[in-house]
Amino acid sequence: MAGEKEIKEIYENGMKILEELTSNAHEIQEQMLEEILIRNAGTEYLSRFFVHGQNHKQNFKTNVPIVTYEDIKPYIDRIANGETSSILFADPITQFIQSTGTSEGKPKLIPMTAESFEKRMVKPLLVDLVMKKCISGLDQGKSFYLFFVKPDMETPSGLMASLYTTSYFKTQIFKNGLAKFCTSPIDTILCLDNKQSMYCQLLTGLLLRDEVVRIGSSFASVLARSIKFLEDYWKELCSNIRTGYLSDWIADPACRNAMSSILTGPEPELADLIQQICEDKSWEGIIKELWPEVKCISSIVTGSMSQYIPLLEFYGGGIPLVSPNCGSSEACFGINLKPLSKPFDVSYTILPNMAYFEFLPVNNDGGGMSREFELRGASATESSESTNETATVNKPVDLANVKIGRYYEVVVTTLAGLYRYRVGDILKVTGFYNKSPQFQFVERQNVVLSIDLDKTTEVDLSNAITKAKLVLEPLGIMLTTYSSYADTSLTPGRYVLFWELKMKGSNDLPKLDAKIMEECCGIVEESFDFTYKSLRKGGVISALELRVVKHGTFDELMDFYVSKGASISQYKPPCCLKSEEAVKLLNLGMVGTFFSPKTMF
Ligand code: AMP
Repeated sequence: MAGEKEIKEIYENGMKILEELTSNAHEIQEQMLEEILIRNAGTEYLSRFFVHGQNHKQNFKTNVPIVTYEDIKPYIDRIANGETSSILFADPITQFIQSTGTSEGKPKLIPMTAESFEKRMVKPLLVDLVMKKCISGLDQGKSFYLFFVKPDMETPSGLMASLYTTSYFKTQIFKNGLAKFCTSPIDTILCLDNKQSMYCQLLTGLLLRDEVVRIGSSFASVLARSIKFLEDYWKELCSNIRTGYLSDWIADPACRNAMSSILTGPEPELADLIQQICEDKSWEGIIKELWPEVKCISSIVTGSMSQYIPLLEFYGGGIPLVSPNCGSSEACFGINLKPLSKPFDVSYTILPNMAYFEFLPVNNDGGGMSREFELRGASATESSESTNETATVNKPVDLANVKIGRYYEVVVTTLAGLYRYRVGDILKVTGFYNKSPQFQFVERQNVVLSIDLDKTTEVDLSNAITKAKLVLEPLGIMLTTYSSYADTSLTPGRYVLFWELKMKGSNDLPKLDAKIMEECCGIVEESFDFTYKSLRKGGVISALELRVVKHGTFDELMDFYVSKGASISQYKPPCCLKSEEAVKLLNLGMVGTFFSPKTMF
């Protein structure tokens, strides 16, 4: 295992390692690609693209196609079903990582080898090191990280498919390394019942409040949810602290056992203090009051997570928000070398040893490469290869050739069998650290609704609504227009749909039967993907709400947008609203509101 020695090396020389990595980014990338190809050129997948005796690296970009998950799914399915030959990778695939992205309603399975899994574990160590270097006092206490796991899935071949974090929390490297500096006992993190896990982790965080120098979670949404949980449970938590007894409903034996060495007896003074803080009507700055030594809040707050920035700033009362890293199940992209930069200014620096990266130019709206950019991008980076304009369309560039200010989709070739794979995330290059590009994370443009890790696209929404409205048609009811928004004013948040309904043949408002409207909500939720359903089931997203508006309300919406400068001839009702004013306007036309049945998930 890359364990002890590598960890020691990183803690002793981490900053030097980072300097070397970023200074030699291009060479490291080239070397990595070469190694990957030498080892795997004989696999079933890659061998198709190379003629015998060809220089693999030279021909890689011309011969190997850029693919999406759907293209390689048949290969992945074969591995998941037990074929052991070198299908995608020469070394054995030891497990799968479940990504939050979905394919045919199921989580995507990303292959992983023992080596690639270990290599990735370097990233959290580097992140920790950079944070400690930039924020004084972080090494003088503990981190109150709220970490959770999800049950593993077993593939027919017996290989496990887990979330990356779940696998990582189970490793000795985590248990003997970062976990030692976390307040949460490992057994409370590994408890599969998220409610018991959350309760015990919060209780520990409160009991050890004076030692806590950092509070965080992987994604900001998790922290928002934890604060909501604290709002609901602080009285019970205080009572446990006051009496020294853990609530009976914490039934998980490992949690009870772990808590017995932390909740060791009554602490009435601490309970009074916490009660006094939590009883305050406003929870503005509550984190600072409950954990007075906290130096930063560490959670990803970029991309779709930026919706939680105001909330965390409100609760944090001035404590800096740090967005530490960026990556996906497929590969880690980069880390934030300036942890104290403001959330909207965060740039991540590519770690060139995590995968071989290519960058597919896109417009700044996330779409395909613009004509003007095709030509300019081509002449700037590919001129020696081709003068044929069409040959350069959507040609990816490598790490050394990205341009500051441009937008790219990330394409990775990994240490575990993905070759020129489109991750789907869009990045905007903001600069270079030494020779390594730095980028801002840009939300995928086709995502219209997002809460927590769910990303519902325009197509998902439209398909779901098409199915639901079938229920109305036999009743002579027509759905004329719809829109939606993600309501995160409360935690957990929910998706809200606005439907303008009328009777066929007249503009009359139909009689709204609550049961039927609830059925529509249910159909919409049912047709959303695996990620939505699991977050909904876990209580991370609340029941979908359907607001029916009276005839003419969407015309008023159009007037509103036209008054803001939209052109009537090109106007399309937005399928998702970002403006509070627009939501207010549609709310004014509301004639009924319905929710998915409680028992649905
Ligand atoms: P998963 O593959 O399930 O781990 O999900 C990874 C996805 O989370 C990425 O593809 C991104 O869409 C999103 N993500 C990861 N890191 C960040 C970040 N720093 N900012 C915004 N979104 C992120």
